[in-house]
This record gives sequence, C-alpha cells and structure tokens, in this order.
Amino acid sequence: MTDRVEKLIIIGAGQMGNGIAQVAAQAGLQVILNDIKEEYAKQGLNNIVKNLNRNVQKGKMTEQQRDQVLGQIRLSTSLSDAADCDMAIEAATENMSIKRQVFQQLDKILPDHAILATNTSSLPITELAATTKRASHVIGMHFMNPVPVMKLVEVIRGLATTDEVYQTVYDLSVRMEKVAVEVNDFPGFVSNRVLLPMINEAIYCVYEGVASPAAVDEVMHLGMNHPMGPLTLADFIGLDTCLAIMEVLYEGFGDSKYRPCPLLRKYVNAGWLGKKTGHGFYLYDQPGGKPINEAR
Ligand code: NAD
Repeated sequence: MTDRVEKLIIIGAGQMGNGIAQVAAQAGLQVILNDIKEEYAKQGLNNIVKNLNRNVQKGKMTEQQRDQVLGQIRLSTSLSDAADCDMAIEAATENMSIKRQVFQQLDKILPDHAILATNTSSLPITELAATTKRASHVIGMHFMNPVPVMKLVEVIRGLATTDEVYQTVYDLSVRMEKVAVEVNDFPGFVSNRVLLPMINEAIYCVYEGVASPAAVDEVMHLGMNHPMGPLTLADFIGLDTCLAIMEVLYEGFGDSKYRPCPLLRKYVNAGWLGKKTGHGFYLYDQPGGKPINEAR
C-alpha cells in the first residue's frame, strides 16, 4: 500500500463530488472527476470554476493559481479511468445498490494498493467493504457540505480497515486542510445520527401544523443559535439524501423513533428535493439558486 495519495478518482460529480475534487486539486493531487453522463461531470466542473472565480475576486487566490488547480482536474465517464489511481472516493447518490455496484466495479479496476473510500452519509462501511476483495482498504471519508468551506471529515473505520489505511486517509485529510475525526461504523455515524432526527422532527412540526417552515427555522436560528434553521439545512443537504439517511437509521436500529416523516417522503416522491431542484421547503429562483419564499 502507498502511504501517500497522489492520484485520486472521485465517483459522482454532484454537490459533494465536485467539492471534494476542488479541495483535492487545491491540495496538489491529480484528480479525475467521474459521473455517469458527460453533462453531469461538466456541471460539476462549472461549479468548481464558479467557486474558484469567487476566490480570485475576493483576492484569496491568483488567476494563475486558479488555472493550476483547474489543470489538475480531468473529467471522466468511465470507471476504467481508475486503473492507475491510488485512491477512489465514491460520492454517488445515497443508494446502497448504486454504491454496491460502483464498489464492485472499482474493486476490479483499481490497483491492489489503492484505497476505496466512500463519502456516504449513513450507509454501512463494513457492508460495502464486504462486496469487495479489499475490505482492509475500504473506509468512510465523510465530508461536510459545502466541502470547500466545512472543516470536518468524519473518518469511519469498517470492521476490517487497517491502521495504515486509516493513517493515510487521516494524512490526506490534513493535506486537504480538514480536521479528521475518527468514528466507528454504526448507522448514521455520529454526524447524521445526531443531526437527521432533529431535521426529521422539524419536518414533523410542519406536517402537524405546529408552525410554518420559516417559523421553525427562525426558532432554531434565533433561539438555539444555529447558523441556519433545520429546514433550510434539509433543503441544502437534499431531501432525497435526508430521507435515505432516515431510512438507514430506521432500518439499522429497528427503532420507531427514527421513522421518516410522511411529509418528507411526499416531497421526495414529488421530486421536491430542495435547493438542487429549486423546490423543497422553500422555493428557489432556479435549481441551486437563491430562496424566494416558503414553498407552502
Ligand atoms: P447529488 O445528487 O448532488 O450528486 C450525486 C451524483 O452522483 C450525481 O451527479 C449522479 O449523476 C452521480 N451518480 C449516480 N450514480 C452514479 C454512478 N453509478 N457513477 C457515477 N456517478 C453516479 O448528491 P450529493 O449531495 O453530492 O451526495 C453524494 C453522496 O455524498 C451521497 O452518498 C450523500 O449521502 C453524501 N453526502 C451528502 C451530503 C450533503 O449535504 N448533500 C453531505 C455529506 C455526504
């Protein structure tokens, strides 16, 4: 196993994948950003360009530095591009069967020394590892959203993850200017086991008519000093991702206290996935845009 990662492939160029690609390229790594369609990979790159341009405007980096970071990122629509990578970080949709398929394919393509990490918010690392022949090299590397801004990386050990693999991922997190916190593999890890039941309860408040989304958010923002209310945050995370995490907690612990709110399920079934689709608990001027008002 190499103890230093130089070439990294990221699977999924959505809001998390493109953020991870940006911080990895800024840390000097060669980055391949992969998605199922070229259009999605390009969208991911556009987002990186937008972020870097903002940094240039604010005087945080020069145009030359921006161009150097962009020069380290290559787009891909084929997993065969993983063949000479030291590591893969899977950041595809939060769905076990998609991730299982990606893991099985990557396991065959990646060199033997390579680490296979997932950015999953809640799915079991040990179960994903068991779908490969490299369980010792499988680990959770859970970045927070938005990746370029948030300092934390929750590093989750599977049952078979070695100390060397943990150390390499820890070192990589430091190179990306993140703070790694080690946790063990239980549903939702720490971050989402604590956060998502609060968001789900906020959705129940709306569902039961206790208060409007804006009122719930204002109570938590002004009353608890949260930087943003739980429903603004849910829209930001993506309501499909929120529902997927609640399902994992509900199933993983078999405890009714994790039952996803029916209103959350309804919104997801309607395609109201939050900020990324322009409609969630709030309406946005465009997908990924600015909030206009409450959606209902
Ligand atoms: P997203 O919907 O913005 O992006 C997911 C991307 O994965 C899409 O572009 C999709 O086309 C792509 N994809 C799906 N199947 C693929 C495949 N087989 N191969 C390659 N690409 C594929 O979702 P996101 O918010 O970026 O979440 C991605 C992962 O990160 C999920 O596991 C999620 O739980 C996790 N996560 C999300 C957040 C958050 O706040 N949104 C925070 C931490 C972790």
